[in-house]
Amino acid sequence: MKPYVVKLGGSVITDKKKPFSVRRQNLNRLARELSKSKRPLVIVHGGGSFGHPLASKYKISGGYREERQLMGFALTHRAMEQLNAEVVGAMRSAGVPAVAVQTSACAVVKNGNILTLEKRPIKKLLDLGLVPVLYGDTVPDLQKGMGILSGDQLAARLAKDIGASRIIFGVDVDGVYTSDPRKNRGAEILKNITQKDWNQLSFSGDSRIKDVTGGMKNKVGELLKLAKSGIESEIANAAKPGTIERLVNGERGLGTIIGGRK
Ligand code: ADP
Repeated sequence: MKPYVVKLGGSVITDKKKPFSVRRQNLNRLARELSKSKRPLVIVHGGGSFGHPLASKYKISGGYREERQLMGFALTHRAMEQLNAEVVGAMRSAGVPAVAVQTSACAVVKNGNILTLEKRPIKKLLDLGLVPVLYGDTVPDLQKGMGILSGDQLAARLAKDIGASRIIFGVDVDGVYTSDPRKNRGAEILKNITQKDWNQLSFSGDSRIKDVTGGMKNKVGELLKLAKSGIESEIANAAKPGTIERLVNGERGLGTIIGGRK
């Protein structure tokens, strides 16, 4: 069975308003839901209130300019490791043989884009029956010196490289809307987005809370690129109990399908 890649949004597993706070109820429930998957999974999670405050403070995504950013890089990475340990721990408690994989040790990035990704250890873990858990991370950048590799970009690339049949993005809203549903009460959910629709849509561009690696706009962009490789994806509400469990067990259309058949 081909694997699925599941990306857990930082806004679902952390409280973005409070630095270094895990939304434990959500995380434990999601771990239980993922444990019900009958297929192999690779998990990627975002930074939420762990990665973003430090990444902004040290302006990591702007590239290397001064020496104090080295400590900023190290601190941001450590914060992400802490969140990753929470995610892996919750999964193990739910009976999933989850193992941490350090993103910055297997990805080479140039000007913010993944140049190469060492997928073999990840595939070997999968073949063994383990569940690799990666995350958005601080990374060395061949052009800018240093940068942030978003969990969104990483998840999309991983799906392609490991031959996943599907990718699921769990976020804190029901899917992609015509405009940000948190700002616009009249926003309508889109059941499917194609490249053609995308070109015509006008997005807010920014998430409700500042997200240094971009919000919904970047997700759709990454997933539309992936659709060109024939991999279907769905953006759905991971904060709603049962949604992720149903999606990992093959249901479609609970959120917004990107680039798939209608
Ligand atoms: P995460 O950090 O969980 O990956 P983001 O915060 O980056 O998620 O993206 C999710 C957020 O994107 C939503 O909470 C919503 O406020 C915002 N958003 C902006 N535009 C839209 C849109 N058109 N449809 C849905 N959500 C949108």
